[in-house]
Amino acid sequence: MLRGLALSHVVDSLHEGVAALDAHGVVLGANEAFTRLVPLEQLSTLLDTRGVVLATDQHPWAQVLGTGEPVHDRVVGIPASDDGEVRWLRVNVVPAELDLGVVAVLTAVDVTLERHAAAALEAAEHRFRLAAEHAPIGIAIVSLEGVLLESNDAFCRLLGYGRGELSGLTFHAITHPDDLALDVAHVEELLAGGAETYRIVKRYLTRNGDALWAQLTVALARDTIGAPLYFISMIEDVSAQREAHEALEHQASHDELTGLPNRAALLAKTSDALARAAVSGRPMALLFCDLDHFKLVNDSRGHEAGDAVLVETAERLLTCIRDGDTAARMGGDEFVVLCEALPSRAHAEQVAQRLIDEITKPMTRAHHVTMTVSVGIALSEPGITAAELLRNADAALYRAKEDGRDRHALFMPELIERATRRLGLEHELREAMRTEALFLDYQPVRRLGDGSVAAYEALVRWQHPVRGVLAPDAFLPMAEATDLVLEIDRYVLQRACDDAMRWDGPDAPNVSVNISARHVGRGLLPGLVARALSRSGIEPSRLTLELTETALLGVTPTATTELDTLVLLGVRLAIDDFGTGYSSLTHLIDVPASYVKIDRSFVMRMASSEASTAIVEAVVSLCRALQIDVVAEGIEEEEQRAMLSRLGCSYGQGYLLGRPGRIGLTALEGAGA
Ligand code: C2E
Ligand code: MG
Ligand code: MG
Repeated sequence: MLRGLALSHVVDSLHEGVAALDAHGVVLGANEAFTRLVPLEQLSTLLDTRGVVLATDQHPWAQVLGTGEPVHDRVVGIPASDDGEVRWLRVNVVPAELDLGVVAVLTAVDVTLERHAAAALEAAEHRFRLAAEHAPIGIAIVSLEGVLLESNDAFCRLLGYGRGELSGLTFHAITHPDDLALDVAHVEELLAGGAETYRIVKRYLTRNGDALWAQLTVALARDTIGAPLYFISMIEDVSAQREAHEALEHQASHDELTGLPNRAALLAKTSDALARAAVSGRPMALLFCDLDHFKLVNDSRGHEAGDAVLVETAERLLTCIRDGDTAARMGGDEFVVLCEALPSRAHAEQVAQRLIDEITKPMTRAHHVTMTVSVGIALSEPGITAAELLRNADAALYRAKEDGRDRHALFMPELIERATRRLGLEHELREAMRTEALFLDYQPVRRLGDGSVAAYEALVRWQHPVRGVLAPDAFLPMAEATDLVLEIDRYVLQRACDDAMRWDGPDAPNVSVNISARHVGRGLLPGLVARALSRSGIEPSRLTLELTETALLGVTPTATTELDTLVLLGVRLAIDDFGTGYSSLTHLIDVPASYVKIDRSFVMRMASSEASTAIVEAVVSLCRALQIDVVAEGIEEEEQRAMLSRLGCSYGQGYLLGRPGRIGLTALEGAGA
């Protein structure tokens, strides 16, 4: 009895419900847990796992008593409330021989929560599968060894594989070789526990071997105790973004018009090349190229023609350089060629000459345009930076332009000093205009017949505080390289008109002013001239503008309009230094010039060269036919004067007829006014 009592205590204290039932489901005895779990009146309406009511003979205890075999881990449901809630029990039933016969001993545990959790998990899995299957991104399950276990439609489609074709392949096989190391490094970090996920942009290999840029996110799935199970890889096609990115990068480093690398890219390439030159000991060079008088083409032929010239220049530069060398556009009409591993320093000059020869051929993309180019060369030296080398090349270019353009010049250290001086000079020149230290000498243009003065040509000089009086050659080429010369022209024009106003009288001589080539074709001249005329009050017909042949070289519709406007204003035009340009005779017809000044060099050679005499003669007779006056420049000897007179030249200028000088009363008397 004591034993029986003790046992019932033990049974009562169990969490599991324990009961003895007969074949009809009548409870013969039960512990407390059982009575809490199972409302006895519900025992007859047991449910199977699908919620269907079980027939009485299907009840587990009935089966156990019927067959004598135990039932293990059967899940049954018991309605737990009126509103359809079900309590789920996992039951084990064994037969037992008692005094009253064989009974079924049943133990039961509540598994309602577990069952709900499992159902939720199943639903989640199902949802995940659905989502993965139809996800726009590619999802794959990859084993720890890198083998693809499962992949969704999008994953297969992105890589060009059919469904299921990817299973069994390794991720090595579908990764671009260049990105494999990156990927593997991240995987190792994940496995080492350094991170839970990683995200990289990498290239996959598609089925037909193309590269596919994708963003990959990888998570490592672990089991409940934290051991790695498999990788979940998610990929998104980023080729469009990648292309846009590359296009942007290209745009940022390239010139849009010519497609050449731009300034920033050139500097980067130069830095790299300098590093290589330091290692190899073979010099590299920058060749700074600037098209001569490009503005003329642009301003007079329009931007389209200008663009065509730039594009063709770029193409030609590319034909002149070796593989691995670079041609870049700095902006405007400036280009830089980078040459590496030069066999010798002299080689850089050969390349420069080749560039010049190539550019000088007539342009084919722009009709009737022939360009020349100036090139500054700077060679690498130990420790120099890319920016310094570029600055050196620029200084050398400046030198080439000062020396007359259409040539190359090699950088020398003193050029930097010159560049500094030049800046100083520019400042000084501005100051000189302000303080009127720029002044005009006048040289008479005389009628060869009676020697009377027809005009005075204004020639600018600079009363320099330290260096004394400077001739135009000492400062104009520098000013011509920048727009400073425009200010000088304006200054001279106004002074000359003001002076001429003071000479006023019935036979007052005309005044002739030199205009810089840089000024022509910009459309600025008519306004400038009109202002000088109205401020001074001189008759327009008394003013002549001398334009050099070179300035008229690019004469084109816009420039012609500009010249025509000047003629309409009533001023006269002269072609200066005639014979030194290229296409002299055609200019006589194109340009509305009143007279032509035959260059001093012809006059000088007349005595010794029959050809020179013949040219002068031809020009004189052609001009007579076109009703253009001819002035012979640089007459120094009586013999020349007489000869020119005989050839029919009506005007002359030169030391014999009068040196340039300050004009005073004496000069005016000499004018025969
Ligand atoms: P240019 O217009 O052909 O001027 C004639 C140059 O020849 C002047 O030199 C003059 O002094 C020089 N000359 C005159 N007769 C003789 C001679 O018989 N023998 C020799 N050997 N030389 C003679 P300059 O004044 O040095 O001017 C040189 C050039 O500078 C000018 O050539 C002109 O192109 C330019 N220039 C002068 N003044 C101005 C100016 O105010 N504005 C601009 N834009 N250019 C100017
Ligand atoms: Mg002149
Ligand atoms: Mg001249």
